[in-house]
Amino acid sequence: MNHWSLFINGEWISEGEKIEVINPSTREIVGTVPKAGSKEAEQAVNSAYEAFPAWSSLTAGERSEFIMKWHDLINEHKEEIARLMTAEQGKPLKEAMGEVAYANSFLSWYAEEGKRIYGEMIPASVPNKRLFVQKQAVGVIAAITPWNFPAAMITRKIAPALAAGCTAVIKPAEQTPLTAFMLAKLAEEAGFPPGIINVVTGDPKEIGEAWMRDERVTKVTFTGSTEVGKLLMKQAADTVKKLSLELGGHAPFIVMNDANLDLAVEGAIASKFRNAGQTCVCANRIYVHEDIKEDFLHTFSEKVKALAVGDGLKDGSDIGPLINEQAILKVKAQVQDAQEKGANVLTGGKEVSGLFYEPTVIADATDDMLCMKEETFGPVAPVATFKTMEEVIGRANHSRYGLAAYVYTQNLSQAIKMSEALQYGIVGVNGALPAVAQAPFGGFKESGLGREGGHHGIEEFLETKYISMGI
Ligand code: ADP
Repeated sequence: MNHWSLFINGEWISEGEKIEVINPSTREIVGTVPKAGSKEAEQAVNSAYEAFPAWSSLTAGERSEFIMKWHDLINEHKEEIARLMTAEQGKPLKEAMGEVAYANSFLSWYAEEGKRIYGEMIPASVPNKRLFVQKQAVGVIAAITPWNFPAAMITRKIAPALAAGCTAVIKPAEQTPLTAFMLAKLAEEAGFPPGIINVVTGDPKEIGEAWMRDERVTKVTFTGSTEVGKLLMKQAADTVKKLSLELGGHAPFIVMNDANLDLAVEGAIASKFRNAGQTCVCANRIYVHEDIKEDFLHTFSEKVKALAVGDGLKDGSDIGPLINEQAILKVKAQVQDAQEKGANVLTGGKEVSGLFYEPTVIADATDDMLCMKEETFGPVAPVATFKTMEEVIGRANHSRYGLAAYVYTQNLSQAIKMSEALQYGIVGVNGALPAVAQAPFGGFKESGLGREGGHHGIEEFLETKYISMGI
C-alpha cells in the first residue's frame, strides 16, 4: 500500500484527511494521499517562490544536470513506476512502460533544449544604441494534470519549465496521484534543491482557486477537460496569468479509397484503443471512403474482436478498465444513442463487468450521433462513410475541437492538401501515434492554447525582455 504525504519545500508533510486511490480493475484501495486545500496550496507557492531566484540564476548546464539525474533515476525505476501507474490508472502494463519512456523523453530532451534559449541583437536606429532581446523564466508555474497519462502529463510540463529556470507547484488528478508522488520522490533523490518541485493533492477547486488568485504564480499549465480549462481561463484574467491549455479533442480518422488498408486498420486500432480510448488524441470518429467500406469494416472488426479485455497487470491484456462509473455511463449512453439513430454494432457494445467495456465497432454512423460530436473517452469506434475529399474535410472540421486528425492515403498531393485543410493542431498522415518530445503538441479552437514539446514548448515558460541600451 502506498501512503503519501504532500511534497512541499523538500519535505514530506502529512496531516489531515486522506483521499483513497482506487484500482479501477479490482476496485481495491491501492493507496492514500492527503486531501489538502488552500492553506497547503499557498505553502507550496511560498516554497516555489523562495526557490525561484537561485534556481533561475543557475546556468542551463547546471539545471540540466539535475534534470538528467532525475531522468536516470526514473529509468532505473521504470518498472516500479509502470506497475504503480497500472494499479491506479488501469492501462495495460506494456502501455504504462511505454508511458514511462515517453515521460522520460521530455526530461532528456528539455535538459538539452534548456541550453539553447538564445537571445537576439537587433540593429538600432541610431549609432549610439544597442538593442538586445533576452529570454527569462516566467517565475513560479502551476501545473494541473489529468489521470489518463499520470507520468507524461507531469514531465511534459515540468521538464521545459525547470529547464527554463521556473519553479513549480503541481496538482495531479485525484484518481492518479501515486505516480506523481513517486516521481517527486525520485526528484528528491536526484537532489533538486527544496522548493523547485512541489506536489499537492486534494480539493481541486480549492487548490485551483488558491493558485489562480495568487499573483506570484505567473503561469498555469493545464491538461484536462474543456470545461475546467475555460474556468481556469476566466480565473486567470484577474492576475493576467499566462496559460497553456491542453483540452478535449474529437479526432477524425479519415481513410481515403487509395489508402493502404492494413496500415489504416493498424493505425485505427492504435489510435482508438490505446488507454481504452481514454486519450484526447484518440480517433473519435472514423470516416472511410464508401468504395472501401466493406473491406475496412471486415478487417477492422475482426481485429477489434481479438483485443483482450482485462486487468492491466495481467499478461496479454490489451484493454483495461475505464477510469470510473461516470465514464462507463457516458460510453453506454453514446452507444445507445447511436443504435437508436440507426447505427449497427458489429462487435462489442456491452459492459464486461465492473469498469470494463468491450472494444466496440459501430457501422453506419451519422454525424448527428453523440459519438460523432462529443468526446467518447472509451473503446468505441464509430465508422461513417463519405464520397469526396471536400465533403470529408468539411465534416471533419465541423467541430468545436481541433486537437488531432488522421489521414490515410497514398496520394501525395491529396495528403498535403488534406493536412493543410484540416483545422487541427496535429495531423497524422499514414501514422497514428504522432506525439514525441521534440514536436509541438496542442490544439486549435476549443482544444486549447499553447504547445507542449519541441522548442515551442519551452517558449511557454519564457518571458521576452527587450533591453534598449545607450552607449
Ligand atoms: P476529467 O473530467 O477528465 O477528470 P478534469 O478537467 O476534471 O478532467 O480534471 C483534470 C485536472 O483538473 C485534474 O487534476 C482535476 O483535479 C483538476 N480540476 C478539476 N476541477 C478543477 C477546478 N475547478 N480547478 C482547478 N483544477 C480542477
